Amino acid sequence: MERQIVRKGILFVLVGPTGCGKSTFCERLVREYSESIRYSTSATTRQPRPNEVPGTSYHFMTREEFLARRDRGEFFETEETHGNLYGTLRAILEDGINAGRDLLFQIDIRGALNFKKHFPNNTVTLFIIPPSFEALKERLKGRGTVDPAELQRRFTTAREEYEALLKLNGEPGKIDYLVINKDLAKAYESVRAIVLAERARYHRMDRSSIEQFCDISN
Ligand code: ADP
Ligand code: 5GP
Repeated sequence: MERQIVRKGILFVLVGPTGCGKSTFCERLVREYSESIRYSTSATTRQPRPNEVPGTSYHFMTREEFLARRDRGEFFETEETHGNLYGTLRAILEDGINAGRDLLFQIDIRGALNFKKHFPNNTVTLFIIPPSFEALKERLKGRGTVDPAELQRRFTTAREEYEALLKLNGEPGKIDYLVINKDLAKAYESVRAIVLAERARYHRMDRSSIEQFCDISN
C-alpha cells in the first residue's frame, strides 16, 4: 500500500472586506485542489445576488428557519452583519477536521477569531486586503454591486474590519497572514503557498503515519 501522511483537516479562514477577492481565491483553490479542499457553504438570511448559486454560494434561508436551526444548536457560530444573519453549520466543520479534509471559509473577522479560539491548532486565518479603497470600489462596481446605500454599508463594514485588524497589532494566534490583492496572479501564488506550507506542518500529522516513512529496518 502507498505510504501516506495522515493529518487533521485544516480550516482555512479567509477574511477581508467584501470585494477583496475571497471568493476568487476560494474558487481557484477548489479548482486546483478539487480532491483535497472543499468550500464550506455558510447559511444566510440575505437575498441571493444575481450570480449566486443556492446551496453553493450560501444556504439561503428565511430568518425564521435560521433562528429555529440556531435554537436547535446546528450552528457552530452565527453573526449579524448589515441586518442579515450568517452562520457556519457545526456538522460541516467537525466532519472536515476529523476526516483530514481541508475546508475553506469566508467569514467576518469576529467569526474568524471565534474559530481560532475553538480550534487553535486547526485554524489558519488569512486577511485579504485590496491595494486601495479606490480599487475596492471599482471591483465592487465591476461585480454588479452598484446600489449606493449598499456600497456605503459595505465600506462602513470594511472600515470596521480594518480597525479590528489593526487593533490586533500582529498578536500571534489571531490573524496569521496578510495578503495584499493587487495583482491577482501574484496574490493567488501567496495564498497557494500558505496552503501548501500549512499542509506540511508537523504538529497536525498523525505519528504512526510518519513512522512508516522513518522506518529504516528494511
Ligand atoms: P469577495 O468574495 O471578497 O467579496 P470577489 O472575489 O467576489 O470578492 O472579488 C470582487 C471582484 O473583484 C470580482 O469581480 C473579482 O473578479 C475582482 N477581483 C478580485 N481580485 C482582483 C484583482 N487582483 N484585480 C482585479 N480584480 C479583482
Ligand atoms: P456577503 O453578504 O457580502 O456575502 O457577506 C457579508 C459578511 O458576512 C462578509 O464579511 C462575510 O465574510 C461574512 N460571512 C459570511 N458567512 C459567514 C459565516 O458563516 N459566519 C460569519 N461570522 N460571517 C460570515
